[in-house]
Order: sequence, then C-alpha cells, then structure tokens
Amino acid sequence: MQRVLVTGGAGFIGSFLCENLLAQGHDVICLDNFFTGSKRNIFHLMGSNRFELIRHDIIHPIFLEVDRIYHFACPASPVHYQFNPVKTVKTNVMGTINMLGMAKRVKCRLLQASTSEVYGDPQVHPQTESYWGHVNPIGIRSCYDEGKRIAETLTMDYHRQNNVDVRIIRIFNTYGPRMALNDGRVVSNFIVQALQNQDITVYGEGEQTRSFCYVSDLVKGIMTMMETENFIGPVNLGNPDEFTIMELAKNVIELTGSRSKIRHLPLPQDDPTQRRPDISLAKEKLNWEPTIKLRDGLTDTISYFDKMLTSVKKAENV
Ligand code: NAD
Ligand code: UDP
Repeated sequence: MQRVLVTGGAGFIGSFLCENLLAQGHDVICLDNFFTGSKRNIFHLMGSNRFELIRHDIIHPIFLEVDRIYHFACPASPVHYQFNPVKTVKTNVMGTINMLGMAKRVKCRLLQASTSEVYGDPQVHPQTESYWGHVNPIGIRSCYDEGKRIAETLTMDYHRQNNVDVRIIRIFNTYGPRMALNDGRVVSNFIVQALQNQDITVYGEGEQTRSFCYVSDLVKGIMTMMETENFIGPVNLGNPDEFTIMELAKNVIELTGSRSKIRHLPLPQDDPTQRRPDISLAKEKLNWEPTIKLRDGLTDTISYFDKMLTSVKKAENV
C-alpha cells in the first residue's frame, strides 16, 4: 500500500486515477484548484477513509509526505488552456517545479503527464518518441505546448541533477465519461451537440486527423508505467486508430441518432493537421496497447453525457 498524490485529481483523467488507486488499496490524496475539475467527478470517493481532497493551486508550494505523485494538474482543452495562457505557463513551470521539489524532498517517484502536443504540428507521421517535434513557440497553443515541453525538461533535469525518480508519458487525445460538458474538446463537443440536435461544429474542412483513446485503456497504461522499473520514458500512450474529424462527426451523429447538421467554422491557428501515436515502445516496455474501439468508447461516453444533460435539465426545472 502506498500514499499517492494525484494533482488534477478532480479532473477527467485524474478522477479515474484516484478511483483505480483506491480500488488497489492505496491511500489517495487528490489535489485540485477546480479550474476545470469538479467535485462531482470524485464525489463517490469521498466516503472512503483512504481518500483525502485538498483544494490547492500547484503554483504555490505545498508540503506533503507521499510515495508517488501522478502529476496531472493542468487544463488540457485548448479553450481552457487559452483562457488564461500566462496561468497555463505558471501551472506547467512553477507547478511542476513545486511537485518535483516535493519528490526530491521526500524521495518519491513522480510521473509527469505530458502530451502529444510536444510534437506540435508534426512533420513525422506517426509520431515516435525520438521525434523532437514542430512547435510554434509564439502561437496561441504555445502556452500549453511549450509549457509541457519545459515540464518534460524540468522532469529530466531534476532526474539528472537531483536523482529524482521520474516517469514521463505523452498522452494522445483521450476521451470518455467525466469530461466537462463545457470542456470544448472535439469528442465532448460533438456528443453534447448531437444529443441536443444542435449543429456539429467542424473546424475547417474536417480533414485533420486525431487518434482517440478511451480513458480506461489510458489509465491502465499510466498505472503500468508508474510501476515499471528501469524505464523512465518518455513513452507515447494513445490509440493508433486514426480518424478525420469529419469521420468522428459522422460516427457521433449515427450513434446518437441525431438530427444535427454539420456546420463548418474557421480552423483555429496552429491546429495540427495529423496526429497518430507510434506505440511500439509502450508495447515493448509496458506490454500495453489499447483494446477499446472508437465506436464502443463513444457509446459509453454518449450514455454518460445523456445522463448529465438530463440531470442539468431537471435541475433547471426545479
Ligand atoms: P482536465 O481539465 O479535466 O483536468 C485537469 C485538472 O487539473 C482539473 O481538475 C483542474 O481543475 C486541475 N488544475 C488545473 N490547473 C491547476 C492548478 N494550477 N492547480 C491545481 N489543479 C489544477 O483535463 P484532463 O484531460 O483530465 O487532463 C489531465 C492531464 O493530462 C493534463 O495535465 C493534460 O495536459 C494531460 N493530457 C490529457 C490529454 C487528454 O486527451 N485528455 C492529452 C494529453 C495530455
Ligand atoms: N474540433 C472541431 N470542432 C470542435 C472542437 C474541435 O472540429 O467543436 C477539431 C479541432 O480543430 C482539432 C480536433 O478537432 O482539429 C481536435 O481538437 P481538440 O480540441 O479535441 O484537441 P487537440 O486539437 O488539442 O488535439
């Protein structure tokens, strides 16, 4: 049994980590400032005497004694990380220094949640971990892309300079229940729009591609990486099945039986044209690969958002 800290634990991925770590018998501290996370995501865990919730912003130091840190605190949707870009940089720089400082002080292992965004608008396809990326340092996505790149740098420097035990994962587009209704990323947007028969907002022609990983597959990969010895990464974690955004829209319309029409909106600046993980390294080192097909994952996610929308409507009518 370990004492485990999950930063960003009230968020989409973080809440599943808290839940799975508790199920394995660990003591879990969930730390979150609730910028994009929600108490609703972890409400069902609050009855456990092995679960603790701390409202805290990681840009400020905090002193805790733990054995593991899953460092996930950072807004991940372009809409949210661009809302206050300076804060996004502070979260990635000051927040990551604070967490690495804690790992150094208490000699615990820290897993850094990095992202496929470190590859920017990639010119190598699919993306391997050895690719250094193609990132605009001064664009509207830079606060996140460069923020996560410096967080990787810090992680490696604390490792080399201070012997901190670290792991780095690069997560590719992940979706599932507990994404916020207003998250703004493509899967939740399309599902919420389709369930309400509103226009589906496809940015640009919809020819850009992404590879979507269901959250339960991802969480298995993350937890395996944390407990794997003699391999610090970085390692790509994602589903290599690649789809155009238009294909995603069509799947969502079909699975929801929606009357929604497609509406094209301008493509945001620096939107990557293609993205697909090469997961050979994860297969080799972690014996991990995703198993959930897009349509199955979408079906579960649709049923989650359907319930959420129904409960919002009920609350509005009270
Ligand atoms: P999310 O927005 O649901 O979760 C982020 C959590 O961090 C939220 O609970 C938020 O309130 C919290 N947070 C943000 N800033 C904070 C701060 N300064 N102090 C304390 N808490 C703070 O997003 P998510 O999809 O669950 O992403 C979690 C992590 O995984 C992020 O680090 C993200 O960069 C990474 N990631 C996610 C994806 C994906 O597809 N979901 C892809 C790549 C990387
Ligand atoms: N996208 C879209 N409509 C939306 C939201 C996103 O067409 O309502 C597109 C977006 O332009 C991008 C892709 O979907 O090409 C994935 O966007 P998301 O914000 O989910 O993640 P990221 O761009 O960070 O991969």
